[in-house]
Amino acid sequence: MDNQTIHLAMQASLKRTKIIATVGPASNTKEMLLQFAISGANTFRLNFSHGTHADHLKVIKLIRAINKESNFNVATMQDLQGPKIRIGTVENNGVEIVPGQELIITTDRNHIGTSEMVSTSYEGFAKDVKVDEKVLIDDGRLEVQVIKVDGSKVHTRVVHGGLLKSRKGMNLPDSKISAPCLTEKDLEDLEFGLKNDVDWVAISFVRSHRDIDYLRSIIKEHKKNTRIIAKIERPEALKDLDGIIDATDAVMVARGDLGVETSLAELPVLQKDIMKRCFQKAKPVIVATQMLESMVNNPIPTRAEANDVAAAVMEGADAVMLSEESAAGKYPLQAVKTMNDIIRSIELSPEMDYEREFKLVPNSRYIISKEVIQNACILARATKAKAIVGMTESGFTAFHLAKHRPKCKILIFTKDKGLLNTLNLVWGVKAFYLPKYESISKSLKLIEKLLINEGCIDKGDLFINIGSVKPNSNLKTNLIKIGYVDED
Ligand code: PGA
Ligand code: MN
Repeated sequence: MDNQTIHLAMQASLKRTKIIATVGPASNTKEMLLQFAISGANTFRLNFSHGTHADHLKVIKLIRAINKESNFNVATMQDLQGPKIRIGTVENNGVEIVPGQELIITTDRNHIGTSEMVSTSYEGFAKDVKVDEKVLIDDGRLEVQVIKVDGSKVHTRVVHGGLLKSRKGMNLPDSKISAPCLTEKDLEDLEFGLKNDVDWVAISFVRSHRDIDYLRSIIKEHKKNTRIIAKIERPEALKDLDGIIDATDAVMVARGDLGVETSLAELPVLQKDIMKRCFQKAKPVIVATQMLESMVNNPIPTRAEANDVAAAVMEGADAVMLSEESAAGKYPLQAVKTMNDIIRSIELSPEMDYEREFKLVPNSRYIISKEVIQNACILARATKAKAIVGMTESGFTAFHLAKHRPKCKILIFTKDKGLLNTLNLVWGVKAFYLPKYESISKSLKLIEKLLINEGCIDKGDLFINIGSVKPNSNLKTNLIKIGYVDED
């Protein structure tokens, strides 16, 4: 790498808010993915609503090669499609529907859609919808209301009309959907993802914590430690939000579908509420969809988009996500760079809301470790320490340090190589590999040397270590040490 590249990569690694870039036809080459990583992308999302297993495997291998050749430790996220409901094929690639007219939606998949009758890919459609319920099509641009269910045909009245195109998504915000959260396709895709060691798996259209529990049981059966992201995009999920956050490892505010299934007016409040609850429970939270949407076609975003990214960063999102912008847009790399620039500008300004304190619940699980971590953050603030250095096997210390959003660096050491990538989704965390775990004093010395070499701390800097004196005991973190980087 040349000097300019090293400088960019250094800057990118200092950024606290993480970037997730969806990979697609606009970005699925090694050169592009490397450029993404250099420009600040921390996690690559493979969208299983598109592409074949062969396409995804190619990308997984490229990511693996990049991680091997550099120390970006980019994480891989598999995003499962879930029970996404779509319109079937429509004649002339689009038919016009007008408000007030009747439109029949049939579950006969072979029917080619006309302006009187279209089909849906979802078999359970006629069973699940009830009279008066709303059906939204194409991101809510079109709306119809159910007037009668007649066998496999659902009669509706068009409320908002327009051009109805093939394969557009449908949302049924009022209905109870009987299809399982993990469809047969999802289960096959999951099998593929687990086999190829993705770091994170995102589950779409989650309804309750039971969906997460089920996914977790499959991951455990495969003896993997893949972490789960619950995509919040159904109204039911909002009713079990705390249960879902407890059960999952991370959350995505999936604003694309959530904005249709609830309302755009409610979306900002929901985003804020979901984020707050995640902070409390030390679960990383991702803000996703249409963040820089206009960059699919333009080299610069709109002011509103720049502000939207900024708002998410200032509110403390762990990660912000690019979808079509990086997967299929005309300016994929510019989108990553733009997001990176916005993040950096906020993080360097006084507007960035660092430092959170929480009331810890007495006698709760791992309370001693949580107290140690919280106190390390308080101590770091009081002493203006340069870094808090933690050691972890499970990730616990990293997730809980990040929860406090300390202004100083969060540097994490682990002997689990997989965790290095996994933690790259978490706010502020920079992870390093610690090959062997000897006595605590030897490890601390080794870590200090390594961090000096990496340029993370300098001689004379004050820094804090937290760790576990008896690493096999139930106390995940029980040691706190503060001192200056050794002069010799
Ligand atoms: P999707 O999820 O892009 O897979 O639909 C994100 C969202 O709905 O916002
Ligand atoms: Mn979605």
